[in-house]
Amino acid sequence: MLIQFLGAAGEVTGSKHLITTDSGKTILLDCGMYQGKGMETDAANRELGFDPKDIHYLLLSHAHIDHSGLIPYIYSLGFRGKIFCTPATRDLCELMLQDTAFIQEQDVRWYNKKMHRQHKPTIKPLFDTHHAQQVMKLFRTVDYNTTYRIDNEISFQFINSGHMLGSALIHLSIQEHNEVKRIAYTGDIGRLHSHILSTPHPFPQCDYLICESTYGDRLHDDELVSEEQLLGVVEETCMYKKGKLLIPSFSVGRTQEIVYVLNQLYNDGRLERVPVYVDSPLSANATEIFRRYADTLNEQVRDTLRFDPDPFGFNTLRYITDVQQSKALNRSEQPCIVISSSGMLEAGRIKHHVSNHIDDPTTTILIVGYCTPTSLGARIQDPKLRFVSIFGYDHRIRAQVTKIDGFSGHGDYSEMIQYFTASQDVKAIKKTFIVHGESSAQEAMKDHLYEAGFRNIHIPQKGASVVL
Ligand SMILES: [Zn+2]
Repeated sequence: MLIQFLGAAGEVTGSKHLITTDSGKTILLDCGMYQGKGMETDAANRELGFDPKDIHYLLLSHAHIDHSGLIPYIYSLGFRGKIFCTPATRDLCELMLQDTAFIQEQDVRWYNKKMHRQHKPTIKPLFDTHHAQQVMKLFRTVDYNTTYRIDNEISFQFINSGHMLGSALIHLSIQEHNEVKRIAYTGDIGRLHSHILSTPHPFPQCDYLICESTYGDRLHDDELVSEEQLLGVVEETCMYKKGKLLIPSFSVGRTQEIVYVLNQLYNDGRLERVPVYVDSPLSANATEIFRRYADTLNEQVRDTLRFDPDPFGFNTLRYITDVQQSKALNRSEQPCIVISSSGMLEAGRIKHHVSNHIDDPTTTILIVGYCTPTSLGARIQDPKLRFVSIFGYDHRIRAQVTKIDGFSGHGDYSEMIQYFTASQDVKAIKKTFIVHGESSAQEAMKDHLYEAGFRNIHIPQKGASVVL
């Protein structure tokens, strides 16, 4: 069989890997969108490297858009194969793909207006809300730890990877010429101790490992440190400086984690009466799905549920869905916490909050997740940067920009290696492919894997094909 690395090769977005068996079956592992470079990513997203009509199966590791975002696009180009994922991933995709289609349409409208003024060619959105709706009929759900046989050659299992609600490591067994080849694709791997997510579960032995490397060169703070750091930032900003604390956060996953931690601080009487606003319709709806699948979250969440029926809601917290209310919140001078997407500050309501308050020294912008180097979220972290352009206007940076590492949804290199060595005989792994990382993180991850006893480690370039 052949594996082709068609995205997230030497970078962290656009995850797409295609397996073609000797008998001609095609299995796509994830179908993610390139993100983080504004409209520059449009061309990269259109070049798939395969004909969607030729794909038989799509195995989806989780609902994050950098892993699932092009599913409606391939549908629009004729993909009619089966999509397999966990039940929570399906429900999240239903929300997130609609949302992505809507953002696409808006972005393209804005971009085309600009192009039209400059007499330059306009573009069409990659897909629309109709495609995002229609593609849902191709989804099939499979629970964790259940071997699912697709046909005589191919079977797979989803193993809880602890990265977000519904996230899975995909363990594939493919029979070829009387030999079974076992491939483990990590998708994204969570932390060993998360605030809400389960620890990544051990997975059966593999012959080939395709592993992520987002934090291949870094170690995180532990989760208790991040809780205290968050409380410290809230106290300094909202109580001492009487300012606004703006937290750019992915609507699905990170937002619920932050809300859960604030809920714990509230239950412990440590949050005082600081108003908290989650300004995102998507977050409000996604939180409903977190409540639905709370049994797949970690033990602390299940313990909390015994005395607090809603660990994602408390008296001083409000979910804002209405645009007018969001605008009113933007104008308000009251000290408060605003959690809103997008996490990299590339779009969404948070960008409006930041553009309105970045020149205010009482404001703190708190970064709680990974930002690709070119994104606004990464650029404002440069302490030498004094002005930044947002929506075409230059703003003086007077707000404090702070970062907390411990909320990451990705394990660091030490956590990933502990996870692998706990469930694998690493010497029995014939080849390991490092994907989903900036090149410095990939090189560092390669060294760490060697030290842990791995051999035959490859960092595939985008488009590379390898025979397994
Ligand atoms: Zn992810």
